[in-house]
Amino acid sequence: MSKRVSARFKCCLKCKALLPSQASICPNCKSSEFSTDWSGFVIIFDPETSLIAKTLNIDKPGRYAIKCR
Ligand SMILES: [Zn+2]
Repeated sequence: MSKRVSARFKCCLKCKALLPSQASICPNCKSSEFSTDWSGFVIIFDPETSLIAKTLNIDKPGRYAIKCR
């Protein structure tokens, strides 16, 4: 992931969802606390069967940052 791409996205501190930088609220958990300090991302299609989703505690499909702080 290049720096240019990561600057356009931010992650939700609560659920790690990756959102466009202009988003004001997280559609997943309704949190408004975000961070632009994230790295790596995964796209979860089926949280039920995804091992990554279980590891990251994700229960909804979508894009998620692997590290978000
Ligand atoms: Zn969230």
